[in-house]
Amino acid sequence: MNAYVDLHCHSTASDGTMAPAEVVQLAKRSGLSAMALTDHDTIGGIAEAAEEAKKVGVDFLPGIEISAEFPAPGTLHLLGYGVDPQSAVLLDLTKQLLEGRDNRNPRMVARLNELGIRVTMQEWEAESGGVVLGRPHLAKILVQKGYVKTIKEAFDKYLGTTGAAYVDKERLGPQRAMELIRESGGVAVLAHPIQLRTGNDAELDRVVKDLVDLGLQGIEVIHSDHDAAWVEKVGELAGKYGLIKTGGSDFHGRTKEAISLGVANGRKVPREWYEGLVGKIKRRG
Ligand code: AMP
Ligand code: ZN
Ligand code: FE
Ligand code: FE
Repeated sequence: MNAYVDLHCHSTASDGTMAPAEVVQLAKRSGLSAMALTDHDTIGGIAEAAEEAKKVGVDFLPGIEISAEFPAPGTLHLLGYGVDPQSAVLLDLTKQLLEGRDNRNPRMVARLNELGIRVTMQEWEAESGGVVLGRPHLAKILVQKGYVKTIKEAFDKYLGTTGAAYVDKERLGPQRAMELIRESGGVAVLAHPIQLRTGNDAELDRVVKDLVDLGLQGIEVIHSDHDAAWVEKVGELAGKYGLIKTGGSDFHGRTKEAISLGVANGRKVPREWYEGLVGKIKRRG
């Protein structure tokens, strides 16, 4: 059994550029023995990915990534692993998340229009495939139309939290988000803690402790944004609070060109972490 896995990947079901089955095929070609699909706000890609995983012989976990309320400029993303795609709670949850997005998106387009940028909801829908319309899709349109040179410039100038056209979307509080993940049969994991942008280690510790008190079960130790110091720091927090360790690349295909499936800032994720997560899902509660 190959020793490596990737537990954080996006497909065309949200803002990645490869179809769910293609991501699984790439996992196989990349020599991974297991992967989880963790699209933003949707499980729309899970059935296709699970079927392909069975076909090619890759162990597969269903997942979802949810952004919860957190003070700017930080962001708090929760990964839900092992959620039951049939669960009524999960269907309700994803419906609510997509509504939050659908309320935000036209307001961002209106802001861009006010700034003299000609872009429409129809274009955004077409670029995204029509279900989960994410900011990376909009960024790509701004690049294609020549308003900016790169995706990064699109976020820096317009779409990022401090950008001129940024509008926040309605989010769940972290406690509610974790409850719903767990009621959907899943295990709640804090994604890329570096993105909380806590000021120092003591504050990071406090935020993680608070989340543990509210139902957090795991933490993403290896991630493309984490350097060696962060991997060490988050690994220690996992030990301190009895959290399972997870890891993944946050692969998005061409949306994030620098990231290859199975590799997170030069590191690979050991299969034991996948086994630990599966164990936690089985013992969940
Ligand atoms: P949304 O879910 O529509 O709010 O968009 C979230 C997506 O935008 C995630 O894939 C993020 O990684 C991506 N994103 C957020 N900020 C940036 C940024 N500054 N540069 C590039 N991508 C970003
Ligand atoms: Zn994304
Ligand atoms: Fe994220
Ligand atoms: Fe992600």
